[in-house]
Amino acid sequence: TETLVEVDDLKVHFPIKRGVFLDRVVGHVKAVDGVDLRISKGQTYGLVGESGCGKSTLGRALLQLTPPTGGQVRFDGTELTTLPANQLRSMRRRMQMIFQDPMSSLDPRQNVESILTEGLQAHGLGGNRTERRKIIAKSLDAVGLPQWALSRYPHEFSGGQRQRIGIARAVVLNPDLIVADEPVSALDVSIQAQVINLLEDLQKELGLTYLVIAHDLAVVRHISDTVGVMYLGALVEEAPSDDLYRTPLHPYTRALMSAVPVPDPEVEDRRERILLAGDLPSPANPPTGCRFHTRCPWAQPTRCGTDRPELRIIGTGKHRVACHFVEQIESGELRPHAVKA
Ligand code: SF4
Ligand code: MG
Repeated sequence: TETLVEVDDLKVHFPIKRGVFLDRVVGHVKAVDGVDLRISKGQTYGLVGESGCGKSTLGRALLQLTPPTGGQVRFDGTELTTLPANQLRSMRRRMQMIFQDPMSSLDPRQNVESILTEGLQAHGLGGNRTERRKIIAKSLDAVGLPQWALSRYPHEFSGGQRQRIGIARAVVLNPDLIVADEPVSALDVSIQAQVINLLEDLQKELGLTYLVIAHDLAVVRHISDTVGVMYLGALVEEAPSDDLYRTPLHPYTRALMSAVPVPDPEVEDRRERILLAGDLPSPANPPTGCRFHTRCPWAQPTRCGTDRPELRIIGTGKHRVACHFVEQIESGELRPHAVKA
């Protein structure tokens, strides 16, 4: 399959400013700190991690909504980080975003027709009013909303319907890539599956490629072809979805998994309870060496505090893990020890 998105050594470091005029930079928050990933056309990449791990910033940086401070992003072969603004604008149509809370991302004073028209006009699409209405009617259909929705306002809809409006606003522009940042976490559990199913249907129908960001591993499990696990600005593990859920290898992923309350016969035997001790350290002052070493039950004083592990291929060829001791942990040669919270 062809690659649509190639991210290399991506960095987003925000300056921490102090002083009366905020003119003193006292450090940097390394929200994203050296991420490599590939997303193939028509596939879904699920990005998971605790809140504050940098996954939203990564999604925004990929679309150049937050400017990266280092690294490369190629979209369908075009390098975005150095693209002149006018060319980036026309590229933007092809890369859309869906947000967690459609209530705050939709303008309450605009009715649905105006919300959907706005994007078309901003990109000089849709021609005259009749053509535009046709395109808008089609995208409403695609997301399962009735045509009478056009004259209504966001507050007149339920949360799930509002997310459908958010999705319609993205697909009306006929994009190639959609970055969905926590697309269902604000919704009732009963509605979550409907929205996920809708995203899957639209992917098949329209040939979309997705980056789906979630703090909840269960949400991305079925929709994702590949899942990446992020911790403090870096990917710690990446694998085809089935591999990752069946055989989580990184200690952090295992800890996340043991918190997932889904009984799964295939995973059950591996679900030793690994308690995630302590809080996520500050990305302004991340631990040296392996960033997970302050919370890792297998951390070895000899190496983990000083030597930063790179993602490397383990086993099947598509499973990548950033841990010095993953083989010894797997074989049972290393036993977990207690971690002080
Ligand atoms: Fe734990 Fe060390 Fe592996 Fe990091 S490198 S996950 S601290 S064992
Ligand atoms: Mg977020």
